[in-house]
Amino acid sequence: MEPKAKERLEEFLHRREILKELRRIAREGRKSLVIAFDRILEFDMELAKSLLDNPVDFLDTADEILGGITKLPGMRLRVMGLDKSVEIRKIRAGHVGKFIQVEGILTRSGEVKPEATEAVFKCRRCGEKNKVLQVGEFFREPLVCENPNCGKKGPFDLVIESSEFRDWQSMCIQEPPEKLRGGRMPRRLDGIVRDDFVDKAVPGNHVMLTGVLRVFQEGRRQERKKTFRKILFISHIEVLQKGVEEAELTPEDKAQIKELAKDPWIRNKIIQSIAPSIYGYDAIKEAIALQLFGCEAIDLHDGTRIRGDTHVLLTGDPGVAKSQILKWAANVAPRGLYTSGMKATGAGLTAAAVRDEISGGWALEAGALVIADGGLASIDEFEKMRSEDSNAILESLEQQTISVAKAGIVATLNTRTAVLAAANPKYGRFEKNLTIAQQVPLDPVILSRFDLVFIMRDEPRADQDRAMAHYILELHRAPTKVVKPPLDLDFLRKIIIYARQNLDPKFDDKEAMKTIEDFFVDWRRVAERGEAPLPITVRQLEAIVRLAKANARMRLSDRATVEDANRAINLIKRSLQEAGIDTETGKLDIDVLMTGKPKSQRDNIRHVLEIIERLEREYGGAAPVEEIKRIAESEGIRPKFVEELIDQEKIRGHLYEPKPGMVARAVK
Ligand code: ADP
Ligand code: MG
Repeated sequence: MEPKAKERLEEFLHRREILKELRRIAREGRKSLVIAFDRILEFDMELAKSLLDNPVDFLDTADEILGGITKLPGMRLRVMGLDKSVEIRKIRAGHVGKFIQVEGILTRSGEVKPEATEAVFKCRRCGEKNKVLQVGEFFREPLVCENPNCGKKGPFDLVIESSEFRDWQSMCIQEPPEKLRGGRMPRRLDGIVRDDFVDKAVPGNHVMLTGVLRVFQEGRRQERKKTFRKILFISHIEVLQKGVEEAELTPEDKAQIKELAKDPWIRNKIIQSIAPSIYGYDAIKEAIALQLFGCEAIDLHDGTRIRGDTHVLLTGDPGVAKSQILKWAANVAPRGLYTSGMKATGAGLTAAAVRDEISGGWALEAGALVIADGGLASIDEFEKMRSEDSNAILESLEQQTISVAKAGIVATLNTRTAVLAAANPKYGRFEKNLTIAQQVPLDPVILSRFDLVFIMRDEPRADQDRAMAHYILELHRAPTKVVKPPLDLDFLRKIIIYARQNLDPKFDDKEAMKTIEDFFVDWRRVAERGEAPLPITVRQLEAIVRLAKANARMRLSDRATVEDANRAINLIKRSLQEAGIDTETGKLDIDVLMTGKPKSQRDNIRHVLEIIERLEREYGGAAPVEEIKRIAESEGIRPKFVEELIDQEKIRGHLYEPKPGMVARAVK
């Protein structure tokens, strides 16, 4: 650093308010002096410029000065808040060696490792201890022994106990999802952070980083390449709070949104603007609209939490625009993300411990649900998710966190994400006379976490077919004319951002509460004596409250009304009538969704087991399979069902085969 600049830096760091800050930092045992870039700029523009252009020099000198003032080792200057950030995809050769600011989602954080700052070497010839300061990026040994009577070139032994270390961590950030509209692949940037800033952020955090962009040659010693890899040596990390998107809103936008709030048709206008190029599916569009607006989670005093995000599952025939709808939703949602359950690379849907190239150790990598924290994740081909994910997905859907305990990494990551999933049925087409659990290869426990499930069927219906064909053909003829929703995409996104930021609708309207209560009680009354199946459970009750609040937020109102409650009830009813029907009886049975086994099936299972018990007594310990099937059929249970049941129970060890063609219960 030039003497003049160094003098100015000395002066700056000796200013009274900074000395005062340093005393406080030392008292609290911290190691970092954080300074906003503006403060340097106000003090001396030239000095500020030298930070941007020669940051390594600047920061090393500053640390030296701070060490001199505080007499504490490892005191550091960290600079935050540059006026402009560089987009990760726009980092170029010109940025190498410069002080830059980047914004992104932390996707990976490595384990914290000790890094040597001062290594002590013992000379094998004379026993002298040589101290070597570890500056630069590579480990340094002494050239010759410091002992004037020795002075040999070693050999030396490293004395770990006398050496000094500091914390070191590698990490990786990726472009934030909202910068990736249109399905672009996110670009990434590696970084290294030291001392008291390690573990400042966890994967999934939206962060603003400042630091020096440095490069390291690629390839091994013998065949070094001309290309270099970029690593940001991080100076400061700021974890951005929810609401960074609000910066996108201008005062005119806000005025326009407030004007719209007075429009009595606001609800319809928003729903009609959902996936406008897709014909029909009004209920699904309403569900997605509500998902986009969402409501706040409730934190209870006992530490538990009721989620505010609504999860929606679409299933049904192929080619009914499921994928199209998912992509649209991910594109409009703030922090929206589209992914497929099948994608085998990376951390998948939840999180994973992966090998870290920079540190050579393990790192924690965030999956789709963590990256979309605070937004919406569209997950296509949900049924094809990896088995690691299907274990973790339950926690991430309900508690909205993911706990990772792998390869020495223990962490809990947030997944406060609304999930819009699409699943394809096992047999290609959706069979009308099978329940959803029988043909969508998803664990019923996972299925039960979705607030709304829609089955999209591709059935020929003359009147509708003509209208749809007409719509799609017109769309190809004049795309901009036909797809003219009441609210355009950008404005819709702004409304969503505004509502999510500024409104947390109250749920205290007496009439609304009574309506929901009545609905719940009435629908469950039919099942009271255990004869009829249970149509809904508390899960649906919570879902209704969530949807009612989301309805209010969508209207840009701060209070849920009885109408909001009714709309929520209707949507839940609609979803249950599609997906919650026991196809054996045609009756509504929540167990179709909750356990995968509707009451009729459970009744039949019990019945068959009773027949087996009776026959065991008659035939002396074991029952002939043919006889079981005959009796069951005479009581209206299909032989195929009996066969499947016997096979299943044999696998589970409840039944066994003492002789061919005979079965017996394992426990009598
Ligand atoms: P899926 O994921 O359900 O198999 P896709 O989303 O791939 O189906 O849809 C197949 C194609 O059919 C898409 O181009 C989609 O736009 C079109 N399509 C299907 N149904 C509709 C509809 N109701 N309105 C407009 N386009 C439709
Ligand atoms: Mg698809």
